[in-house]
Amino acid sequence: MPLAGRLRMTTQRRVILEELSKLKTHPTAAELCQIVRKRLPRISLGTVYRNLEVLSREGIIQKLEAGGQQMRFDGNVETHYHLRCLACGRVADVDMELLRGVEEQVDGQHGFQVLGHHLEFFGVCPQCRGGGEGKERQGR
Ligand SMILES: [Zn+2]
Ligand SMILES: [Zn+2]
Repeated sequence: MPLAGRLRMTTQRRVILEELSKLKTHPTAAELCQIVRKRLPRISLGTVYRNLEVLSREGIIQKLEAGGQQMRFDGNVETHYHLRCLACGRVADVDMELLRGVEEQVDGQHGFQVLGHHLEFFGVCPQCRGGGEGKERQGR
């Protein structure tokens, strides 16, 4: 593990990271805790949460925060965009090209050096629209 030198990889931390990396669902700490418990039955939610905080502070995982919504975590730290359901809070990855050039447009404003950007779309997922998955109506 290339990062092991900087950050101590305890078994708990390694399992949390491995399980998060397998998921595309952007779980909350509680959701991830349930999954991790299949391998480490005695792990507490507080431990999972603390480890997620450390991993995101180190830039190994991504923490997704939005006002009033539960915090979610993403094992993918590459720049990509998210789609969030306003009703249930679930988050999906958006399939689109990154917006090139936006950082250059903003760079230097207010004296800032721009290092990256986040973009989040929001809407209502199929379940919350009452259609159920696969029954999405085309168009709007
Ligand atoms: Zn929803
Ligand atoms: Zn994502």
